[in-house]
Amino acid sequence: MKALCWHGAHDVRIERVPDPAIINPRDAIIRVTATAICGSDLHLYDGVIPTMARGDILGHEFMGEVVETGPGASRLSVGDRVVVPFTIACGHCEPCSREHWSLCDNSNPNAWMAEKLYGYSASGLFGYSHMYGGYAGGQAEYVRVPFADVGPFKIPHGVADEQVLFLSDIFPTGYMAAENCEIEPGDVVAVWGAGPVGLFAMKSAYLLGAERVIAIDRVPARLAMARDLCRAETINFDEEDVLDVLRQKTAGRGPDACIDAVGLEAHGTGSLGARYDKAKTTVMLATDRLEALRQAIVACGKGGTVSIPGVYGGYLDKLPMGAAFAKGLTLKMGQTHVHKYLPRLLDLIESGAIDPSFVISHRLPLESAPEAYRMFLDKADSCTKVVLRP
Ligand SMILES: [Zn+2]
Ligand SMILES: [Zn+2]
Repeated sequence: MKALCWHGAHDVRIERVPDPAIINPRDAIIRVTATAICGSDLHLYDGVIPTMARGDILGHEFMGEVVETGPGASRLSVGDRVVVPFTIACGHCEPCSREHWSLCDNSNPNAWMAEKLYGYSASGLFGYSHMYGGYAGGQAEYVRVPFADVGPFKIPHGVADEQVLFLSDIFPTGYMAAENCEIEPGDVVAVWGAGPVGLFAMKSAYLLGAERVIAIDRVPARLAMARDLCRAETINFDEEDVLDVLRQKTAGRGPDACIDAVGLEAHGTGSLGARYDKAKTTVMLATDRLEALRQAIVACGKGGTVSIPGVYGGYLDKLPMGAAFAKGLTLKMGQTHVHKYLPRLLDLIESGAIDPSFVISHRLPLESAPEAYRMFLDKADSCTKVVLRP
């Protein structure tokens, strides 16, 4: 089959690789009908996520048709149309039984790698390094799905691929980020990053009862999407002082909740902190650039919540912990418990409350993936989200 393989920083290639096969009884093989490039794929593309190996197949946002099932995947039938959560979960361990699906104890065969870094391992992920299980991803013609009696979610006919594809990650991720804010009527929610996860967080904040949403970014096309499609007020951090403007917009008290939908490769604002991160990560003395998170913590109003769907990988320098403590902030973060949100978000799509395809800017064949990664990284041609069709 054809698949998109990682070969190093800024080097991904379409290659011919062996077709996947059933390895365990609970496996299924899916013929991919649509797959997307995620902002967190760019961290792999930039080479900042450890334990990648040449030839690894990328892609954790995909859907398709079941073409083969193992004897333990009896819930699925050949021909079923499914969306697959990017987090792999066994369905039976202690975290899974608490609906902490992205913390599954059993789905990462390389748990020891993550344990060395983090103490304990989270779940395995599709196409996201050996530390997260070394699973082949879905930017390919076919993919093996483990625990297929738990993960793949059947999609009724009559709903287009593009409307449900993002149930695999970014829609639940934006929704959980907003839910983590424990929004109450009247709340103001500020969102750093108007990429796809940020945009879904904005829409979800309104669905969950926010009164106002404020988007912070510097890419004009993204700010326009936040304003025009997600009813957000906008701040361009290249042109305005984010903290000042947020204070003005909230009568001095700060947002009730702040969402960092940027993560470890924040571009920063030219501030001292941003320049410090750039210098330290360049000489490998630091792992993460966290200017968005610093701002979110400092901007957040007293007693508020900072919700972090953006990915972080290592140790964070100059995190304003004192500000978080002084203001009694709640910090919530982590990979998305996709399985938990899928049914209710599909209901929202089917009822017409939201059509997730609004984030798509480019539709391309799988063969164009190498150029698409470059375009997405550069945010060229107003690229917000690429859907690839094998
Ligand atoms: Zn993703
Ligand atoms: Zn589990």
